Amino acid sequence: MIRVAVSGCAGRMGKTVVDAVGAADDMDVVCGIDPHGADAPFPVYASVAEAVDRAEFDVLVDFTQPDVVAGNLAVCLPAGIDCVVGTTGLSNDTLEQLSATAENGACLFYAPNFTTGAVLMMQFAKAAAPYFPEAEVIEFHHAKKKDAPSGTAVRTAQIIAEARAFESSAPGAETEIEGCEGARGALVDGVPVHSVRSMGYVASQEVVFGSMGQSLAIRHDSWDRTSYMPGVLLGIRSVGEQQGLIVGLENFMA
Ligand code: NAD
Repeated sequence: MIRVAVSGCAGRMGKTVVDAVGAADDMDVVCGIDPHGADAPFPVYASVAEAVDRAEFDVLVDFTQPDVVAGNLAVCLPAGIDCVVGTTGLSNDTLEQLSATAENGACLFYAPNFTTGAVLMMQFAKAAAPYFPEAEVIEFHHAKKKDAPSGTAVRTAQIIAEARAFESSAPGAETEIEGCEGARGALVDGVPVHSVRSMGYVASQEVVFGSMGQSLAIRHDSWDRTSYMPGVLLGIRSVGEQQGLIVGLENFMA
């Protein structure tokens, strides 16, 4: 049994992780951590330091806030506890500094996107990119999303640009119609990226490729938070055999 502690267990993602880990037959939630407390059938501590002092667990899963995640990892990694992190906002430098503090071969695993489908969408886009002169990314998110374009859309555009040895011939040239600036999207490494914000969506993305007489669309839809759980469980199962810093779910998707 893998003993799991869920940091941010009262939050939207944390609650979903608690349910997913509880439903898996090879792991258990031994405690939660959340300063807001939580109504749970396991002990809930106010801080990660308190949890490390009072409970024993193999893996910390962290879905908290950008301003607290580094502090949580700075407690667990020197204590030799593997960490599976979804909280956004950690720079590469910070991740590397934190992983250097790990003891006893502890692993720091960070995935900017835990949906297996989004990772595959990027891999398929990489495979298609050399064969299509045109490529555009359209991402669709709920209206409350703060940033645009999404991190996944930016990463997809970068992957497409890296995978092809040419520049698109229709790279988002600006419209000539006054007042309609931006109609061709934002250019990320020469790839037009369009951001839709609307009720009804959680997180979707379509990558559209064009060539002579043919087009190819690769689409991924994430309809609710359970879509992240296969990736989170894969991370929990995989970190025990790893050490050091690992970024990206693709590392565990054979
Ligand atoms: P949320 O606000 O619903 O939950 C965050 C929880 O963390 C809250 O309950 C809060 O009380 C708790 N918290 C605050 N400080 C804490 C501390 N020091 N220790 C432990 N818990 C603490 O947020 P959410 O929607 O669940 O998202 C959490 C994070 O996950 C965000 O950064 C979000 O961007 C990220 N996220 C990542 C992915 C991914 O695939 N990587 C997917 C969805 C969300």
